[in-house]
Amino acid sequence: MDPRVEQFMAKLKAKNPGEEVFHQAVQEVAESIIPYIEENPKYKHAKILERLAEPERVIIFRVPWINDKGELEINRGFRIQMNSVIGPYKGGLRFHPTVTLGVLKFLAFEQTLKNSLTTLPMGGAKGGSDFDPKGKSDNEVMRFCQSFMTELQRHIGPDTDVPAGDIGVGAREIGFLFGQYKRLRNEFTGVLTGKGIEWGGSLIRPEATGYGVAYFCSEMLKTRGDSLAGKTVTVSGSGNVAQYCVEKCNQLGAKVVTMSDSNGTIYDPDGISPEKLAFVFELKNERRGRIKEYAEHFGCQYLEGKRPWNIKCDVAMPCATQNELDGNDAQALLDNGCFCVCEGANMPSTIEAINKFVAAKILYSPGKASNAGGVATSGLEMTQNSMRLPWTKEEVDQRLHSIMINIHQTCVKYGKQEDGFINYVKGANIGGFVKVANAMLAQGYV
Ligand code: NDP
Repeated sequence: MDPRVEQFMAKLKAKNPGEEVFHQAVQEVAESIIPYIEENPKYKHAKILERLAEPERVIIFRVPWINDKGELEINRGFRIQMNSVIGPYKGGLRFHPTVTLGVLKFLAFEQTLKNSLTTLPMGGAKGGSDFDPKGKSDNEVMRFCQSFMTELQRHIGPDTDVPAGDIGVGAREIGFLFGQYKRLRNEFTGVLTGKGIEWGGSLIRPEATGYGVAYFCSEMLKTRGDSLAGKTVTVSGSGNVAQYCVEKCNQLGAKVVTMSDSNGTIYDPDGISPEKLAFVFELKNERRGRIKEYAEHFGCQYLEGKRPWNIKCDVAMPCATQNELDGNDAQALLDNGCFCVCEGANMPSTIEAINKFVAAKILYSPGKASNAGGVATSGLEMTQNSMRLPWTKEEVDQRLHSIMINIHQTCVKYGKQEDGFINYVKGANIGGFVKVANAMLAQGYV
């Protein structure tokens, strides 16, 4: 490791002990940014990177709620307001038992650079709880969401902080959260994104992250005169991002052969056709079942406890969670001829995996670039809420598409090497950093 990065990381680790994923996210960025800062000393003197890694505000609160048996349960709620230099705090809420302060700090840190890449005026934030919606009744989820929002509402607002969904927070949870916010504050505002279409949501927001991943991937392939048509694609996850990523890959002529959940992977060599994908939508969003049922229903292979990365593919799209693709997985993908990895999840690849992809000079894009379509369309939802005027599906999709093309161009601008290889890690990190850093310089030491 570059000694300057090592020194920076040693301080960060001492100050934030035990927050391994936060260390990992910052290190990945520091490796690109520190050499850039050395070439641009104005950022060094103003300690921009040090300030970027220190949240402006962290809110931690108790969330008591009553389960269906009448017992009291207690969870922990968080909101990390990371950086508001280019706009109101913006970032999703995650409800998952693995949620800790460190997980949300990593996500909020990534979010600041990602939001900058979209070109829209949004700061960075993230929040959530260690609450697990899995296996809970709708009433239990509602009671939890109401209790969570009873505290969170003091800290957010349409011009202050606008949360959205993430793992475990979909249309149902956003509905309950919005209802409680409106009830307590007595105001109908664009305080959350991912809202239902009938009450202020944007068309294409549910699709946006997954569609954006496929749009970004198409741009990457274009740099090598190629496209998604005819490609074999492996996707992990079967939630919001994965579902719409598969839908758009199908539309663009690719064949997606895997989806997964935390229990295992289905492998369908014939491809997850639109008809089979409809089964996944119903399975995951209505019945809230396990992906194993897909294999049982369609008679394909189910790999219990396995991830999709040993299956031969041209393109891999990790769309489940952080660190779901390690160095061995990366090697297996490369050995099987995979030449493009386009991330839908946040930080799904470990640093070791990323180093292998970059060393092999394949097309590899970090989530902060390729999954930014979700938050970009949340930004478009905020715009429509402010105008009190909705756009058509075509209009939002077209804006999403051009934002993804734009992010790709930014990555090329800052990441293209002399030999023509595009280092998307460097491109996304520097591209996201410059705008935030310049705004921080302009606004003084705050
Ligand atoms: P969902 O909750 O809709 O789906 C998550 C999927 O990932 C599920 O299939 C889930 O399986 C799987 N998963 C979650 N945790 C784990 C784990 N620890 N190990 C293995 N599998 C796991 O979430 P989203 O689709 O919204 O989010 C997926 C990823 O995309 C996350 O990294 C998120 O931060 C990122 N993202 C999401 C955006 C959005 O707009 N929703 C925007 C940008 C990024 P199971 O059901 O078994 O838990």
